[in-house]
Amino acid sequence: MMIKRLAIIGVGLIGGSLARSIKRAGVCREIVGGGRDEAQLRKALELGVIDRYEIDIAAAVHDADMVVVAVPLGAMEAVFRQIAGHVRPDAIITDVGSAKGSVVDAARAVFGEVPPTFVPGHPIAGTEKSGVEASFTGLFEGRRVILTPLPHTQPEALASVRALWQHTGAEVVEMGVEHHDEVLAATSHLPHLLAYALVDTLVRMDESEEIFRFAAGGFRDFTRIASSDPAMWRDICLANRAAVLSVLERFMADIASLGEAIRAGDSERILSTFDRAKAARDRFCRQENNNP
Ligand code: NAP
Repeated sequence: MMIKRLAIIGVGLIGGSLARSIKRAGVCREIVGGGRDEAQLRKALELGVIDRYEIDIAAAVHDADMVVVAVPLGAMEAVFRQIAGHVRPDAIITDVGSAKGSVVDAARAVFGEVPPTFVPGHPIAGTEKSGVEASFTGLFEGRRVILTPLPHTQPEALASVRALWQHTGAEVVEMGVEHHDEVLAATSHLPHLLAYALVDTLVRMDESEEIFRFAAGGFRDFTRIASSDPAMWRDICLANRAAVLSVLERFMADIASLGEAIRAGDSERILSTFDRAKAARDRFCRQENNNP
């Protein structure tokens, strides 16, 4: 696979890391960055992440074989509007948004129907940092990328986006849009919501300074992801609202029941919950270690 011109709109953590990985793989002649902040794009150019940039998004996608939209979910529709009518009719378009239903809706709103050359995607990799300076080449190595093609997605477009991600060292899997949003609500969106909520509760307690002084490894482990970009996670919670609310309701019922067990001194129920959770996490960590 050789891409002549790859346009990446949004050269931040994900867009920048993709550009770096594709450069390393040597499968693309030119990577053009597009965005709205010239200082950030100049930084991306200086870091060697992209070959050139355009502030005008229509100009950035001009004559590109492939366009990757790597902006926050709340900006997807606006970016689709800027590229509509300016991409080559045969150009393959993909995105990296953390929720897929909202991206598909945005594409429908702009293009009338999701173009057959559009392949929604989501790399399951990231850090709590943002921006091109946080991007790095190995981010997707050994990670999964989920593609959520629609029934009318062109098989050639799907194969090209699959190959793009395989060049980063990622394993590509496919699933339906709705299923993706349910799975990610449970495994990623809910944990971020809980991390933010826990830190916010603690910081608003009268003795918060005292609490943070004595917070140690457990607190750090549990709350690392509360250092993620708040605007990005606001967008994700709103974009995937139905699935997030559904898993949140289930969690609230479970945590209430655990609280009830503590109130009742029901040591068996507490222990069986903790035992089940520990066994599940240990199993997950073993699988991760065998499959880095
Ligand atoms: P990021 O580091 O903040 O990068 C976002 C990029 O988009 C920045 O270059 C930003 O440029 C640009 N941008 C923002 N609004 C724009 C607009 N209206 N028009 C043009 N460019 C715009 O964020 P990221 O972590 O890479 O996330 C990007 C996407 O990846 C999101 O959709 C997110 O859901 C998804 N994702 C993130 C992770 C993760 O862990 N971080 C993992 C998987 C998927 P400015 O300098 O102008 O703001």
